[in-house]
Amino acid sequence: MDREELLSDAAQRAVSYLRRIRQRSVAPSEAAVAALQRFEEPLPAGPCDAAEVLKQLDEVGSPGTVANAGGRFFGFVNGGSVPAALAANVLAAAWDQNAGLRVMSPVAAVLEDVAIGWIKELLGLPNVAAGSFVTGATMANMTCLVAARHALLARLGWDVEAQGLFGAPPFQVIVGDEVHASLRKALAMAGLGRDRVISVPADSQGRMRSDALPKLSAPALICIQAGNVNTGAFDRAHEICTAAGASGSWVHVDGAFGLWAACAPERAHLMQGFGEANSWATDAHKWLNVPYDCGLAFVSDGAALYQALNLQAAYLAPGALRDPMQWTPESSRRARGVEVWAALKSLGRSGLAEMVERTCKHAQRFAGGLCAAGYTVLNDVVINQVLVRFDDDETTQAVIEAVQRDGTCWCGGTVWHGQRAMRISVSSWLTDEEDVEWSLDAILRAAKRSRAK
Ligand SMILES: *Cc1c(COP(=O)(O)O)cnc(C)c1O
Repeated sequence: MDREELLSDAAQRAVSYLRRIRQRSVAPSEAAVAALQRFEEPLPAGPCDAAEVLKQLDEVGSPGTVANAGGRFFGFVNGGSVPAALAANVLAAAWDQNAGLRVMSPVAAVLEDVAIGWIKELLGLPNVAAGSFVTGATMANMTCLVAARHALLARLGWDVEAQGLFGAPPFQVIVGDEVHASLRKALAMAGLGRDRVISVPADSQGRMRSDALPKLSAPALICIQAGNVNTGAFDRAHEICTAAGASGSWVHVDGAFGLWAACAPERAHLMQGFGEANSWATDAHKWLNVPYDCGLAFVSDGAALYQALNLQAAYLAPGALRDPMQWTPESSRRARGVEVWAALKSLGRSGLAEMVERTCKHAQRFAGGLCAAGYTVLNDVVINQVLVRFDDDETTQAVIEAVQRDGTCWCGGTVWHGQRAMRISVSSWLTDEEDVEWSLDAILRAAKRSRAK
């Protein structure tokens, strides 16, 4: 097969994979997972025909996937890929652009600029904020934290990029008790310490209690959330930002998926005050439904972001326009902005609002159906997250396992305030009412059987 035939073959296989996804089990079968052993062969001594490579990948690999691209995967906070973003991803793979520098890819740089501008407008972030593309919200948190670290230490007369943190003057880092684990990891990577934090108690929904914030006598770094990973709850940003502003503190927002609630007029009230913060981390591969891996960092003090992350070398002649790699941890990287641009262009403001609102409505339907059947929904379903408990820990765990085995849909587990719970996160553009009813039936069947035991 020549290259053209090979690409057509790949496209055809992709199309038939997606065509069949509605009928298949969401989790791969045990047999399909066991068959993945067929990949574990010795390093090939010589070349293999590319068509054969693709055939093996499809025949052995496709059944071993999780049907994340269908409409009934409700685990973690995984979106799918809207058609325009998926198609753009295919074209961009052929382009093979290195998005690090504008001279290496003018088109990647322009599409990133445009997408960053559109997203600031959609999410209600300051127009002056600098934005950059990263792999996901973990790296977006990290990117924002190093910008915050730069700014807070520069004010204390310390050049952290030059001197490191050894001997640096300390500043306080404040998080809520329900901070996402990836933010703690980002704090660790940024040298700020995952445990060297002041942890503020959270309320029943996981919101940082703004009345329990410590008195701020010096500029601190305060990390808040738009969208708790379990409950979907939003911290009271306006109150926290007001308290922070008086002390010159830096407020960072982890809004991996929650920030996108700003797109739906019915949910926008949750976002009150978040635009007053100093930095924001979010994902595009969750609620915006673009392919992995794709996150964004925004920092209102763009100079702090640039100072924290720019890199100079003689062969990297600085251009007159923004060079993407000067604002982000990586140098060479793929052109993630292409898919984000394509998703935003294809959905438009109203399409995005409709997608966000639709997933929230589906979450409400799940919660309503589960409550009606006598099960306990543990959270206020403010966006697309539902936490449900079936009687006790043991039954809840049994239901989670039965739902995953059944294959109609996939839901994961968590522990919320000491109790085992099942998480339902409706994040895919593709989920329709029929998917919700099928899934609800499957969950209720599993719950009934587990209760009977
Ligand atoms: C998913 C998530 C993250 C981590 O995002 P990745 O894209 O997996 O790195 C951080 N914070 C919150 C609230 C999340 O939901």
